[in-house]
Amino acid sequence: MEIALLQEKLSQTSEPMLTLYMDTNPPDRSSHGRTPAYLAWLKKEMKHVASGVPPSELQSFQEQMRRTERSLRDMTPRERGIVVFAGPTTWIRMSLPQAFANQLQWGRPALEQLLGIATGRKNSCVVAIDRAGARFFRGEDGDMAELPEERFEIDASQWKQKDLGHMAPRDTHMPHGPQRDLYKRRVDEQYRRLCKHVADRTRALCSKELPAAIFLVGSRKLTELIEGGLPTDLRERVETIVENLARVPPEDLERHLGPRMAEWTWDFAKRRAGQLIEAERGAVTGLDETLAELQKGNIRSVLVVRGFDATLRQCTNCGAVGRSADPACPVCGGERREVKLGEILPVLARDRNTILEVLDREPAKKLVEAGGIGGWLRPAQPKRAR
Ligand SMILES: [Zn+2]
Repeated sequence: MEIALLQEKLSQTSEPMLTLYMDTNPPDRSSHGRTPAYLAWLKKEMKHVASGVPPSELQSFQEQMRRTERSLRDMTPRERGIVVFAGPTTWIRMSLPQAFANQLQWGRPALEQLLGIATGRKNSCVVAIDRAGARFFRGEDGDMAELPEERFEIDASQWKQKDLGHMAPRDTHMPHGPQRDLYKRRVDEQYRRLCKHVADRTRALCSKELPAAIFLVGSRKLTELIEGGLPTDLRERVETIVENLARVPPEDLERHLGPRMAEWTWDFAKRRAGQLIEAERGAVTGLDETLAELQKGNIRSVLVVRGFDATLRQCTNCGAVGRSADPACPVCGGERREVKLGEILPVLARDRNTILEVLDREPAKKLVEAGGIGGWLRPAQPKRAR
């Protein structure tokens, strides 16, 4: 189920419910006799959570717990993780493609993990390029998946018919003088075209979800051509690695890039936070101002420090969100309900076509001091930092 839909569905009910996130794929899954480790965890956690449930809701909690446990009996070994939302009129159970942190909660549905704000999954896009082609990888928290390769075909067949005679693009000795220049120009032209194509594909890959970093790996000549073909949002995330890794196995690539990636993410967060705080115009910081501008659709990119959260109120009629505790909406007078920033922020951002960036706390210290959240206004563009 689409997360936005899920969010909407869950927001329509105010009943207290059970939220369960469970990593069902620990390495020791079968080594504990008949009870997998995750079920043992669940039993223990259940007792702990039950002790905090209000007496009037205890029966409902126990019912939902039983229902959830029953549903865990038919887990397939392929499920790496599951999330369950269970209440008297709610039943949502989803398999998760990746593991989440174990969490059991009673009360409002806890969506933060799903929305990525608590875990802050670090996505990256890697394009490794050489004269033979471009390989594409999507990385998520260290796991790298390869996508279909783009092979380069330098077509010299037509040139041979004309003024270039016997020349072939590779392996043969180069001719001299004007012919050589002409040949070189044509090859360059073809590479420009191919790199433009690679840039377009990179953009398409990053269109659904903005990656934390885009690594362009290869000779400077080729990576510069690709970088030049990317829009600003993506260009400011580009890290060029001038190494020939286009033909190495994915696991070697991962080993090469892992430390660079971590370092880059740190520097990037630090730089992003610094730029935002120091911007004299075109930016806002602090929860109230950011929320106000975001809801007006004025923010191009919102930056939030990981783990930063706040209790807000949202109008059940017009959807306006604010920090004041007023039970009536200041915009339309409608009834307001409590929401957590971590839940509502990704939804607000998505609805307004705003990029949401979650920055790690430590490198983004400056943003923590400035209120934990801020944003770049449209249409002002952040300065490119290199
Ligand atoms: Zn309202």
